[in-house]
Amino acid sequence: MTEPLVKPWIAAIAPYVPGRATTDGGKPAAKLSSNENPLGTPQAAREAYAAAAAHLETYPDAGATALREAIGAHYGIEPERIIHGTGSDEVLHLAAGAYAGPGDEILFVRYGFSVYPIAARRVGATPVEAPDRDYATDVDALLAAVTPRTRVVFVANPNNPTGTYTTAEEIRRLHAGLPRDVLLVIDQAYTEYLEPEDDDGALDLARSEANVLVTRTFSKIFGLAAERIGWGYGPAAVIAAMHRIRGPFNVTTGGQQAAVAALGARDFIQQSREHNRRWRTWFGDEIAKLGNAGLRAIPSKANFVLVLFEGALTAEQAYHGLMERGLLTRWLPGQGLRHGLRITIGTEAQMREVIAALRLMAGVDG
Ligand SMILES: *Cc1c(COP(=O)(O)O)cnc(C)c1O
Repeated sequence: MTEPLVKPWIAAIAPYVPGRATTDGGKPAAKLSSNENPLGTPQAAREAYAAAAAHLETYPDAGATALREAIGAHYGIEPERIIHGTGSDEVLHLAAGAYAGPGDEILFVRYGFSVYPIAARRVGATPVEAPDRDYATDVDALLAAVTPRTRVVFVANPNNPTGTYTTAEEIRRLHAGLPRDVLLVIDQAYTEYLEPEDDDGALDLARSEANVLVTRTFSKIFGLAAERIGWGYGPAAVIAAMHRIRGPFNVTTGGQQAAVAALGARDFIQQSREHNRRWRTWFGDEIAKLGNAGLRAIPSKANFVLVLFEGALTAEQAYHGLMERGLLTRWLPGQGLRHGLRITIGTEAQMREVIAALRLMAGVDG
């Protein structure tokens, strides 16, 4: 051997493709490609982050005690059963790392979150995809795909990149059908965008069951994507196992303090939810008007919409046409969605620009 040999399961990883922040020509543009909050960050979180700059010489609180206590008080859950992560991405990796390895399988749906196959391969496990039901999570298909080697099941609810939602009844049915020794991870990155009546019951399941973990993030509605703060809630034994492999100082001081402040920013959260609901509805209605041109929006409960292009105008053409107009969206050919664009709900002006551009490209106007 003349050089270090990369592990075959690492070599098999198709690297994560982040949402773009600049156009092909390198110009900054409206970023509707990463599901960030168009209303920005709560003012209180910005101030807490700035205040943390007074002590950059000390390590952060390795246990994120104040943050876990604030999360516990906010959601009515036990702080000692919460784990903090460098984004919820890290929490997903920790779950895979603690419960799966070479020879094991990690199961998720087709058109699931693109981090899941990476989290599986990273630890040498085999990623397994269950078929979708019209782009949504199919509980029967997931249960049918379980084998004696299945160790972890990842379900995002709402799902990314489809925006589809799985009801509490379906989540319960999925859990009830899984072997007790399979860890069910319910990834609730977009849960704050749901209407109150749409609670999928995952936190309750994680409280009472020995094999359910819920993950959440401060990157989406809380507007703190830059700081990389996520968390998980689950049985004490699962949390303890994940702590063993967590980086000791994985969330920065500024991030911890900003997140505590963001939790208290109720008006900001409320406004963000209302803005999203209003413009997601408007956007869906406008896409429906382009049905004759082959455009169709998958019904979404998140802060983005997956638009399918099944007519003369292709998703690839629309992606480039929108980029030329300074509008960045997510085209996902690598995820089997060559015919789809995932478009984040941005500001009113951005959403109007997207629709105007799509109408022109589809030949409906002009
Ligand atoms: C955005 C997202 C996450 C998490 O992101 P972090 O920034 O790492 O917290 C997790 N799951 C899904 C489905 C997401 O879309």
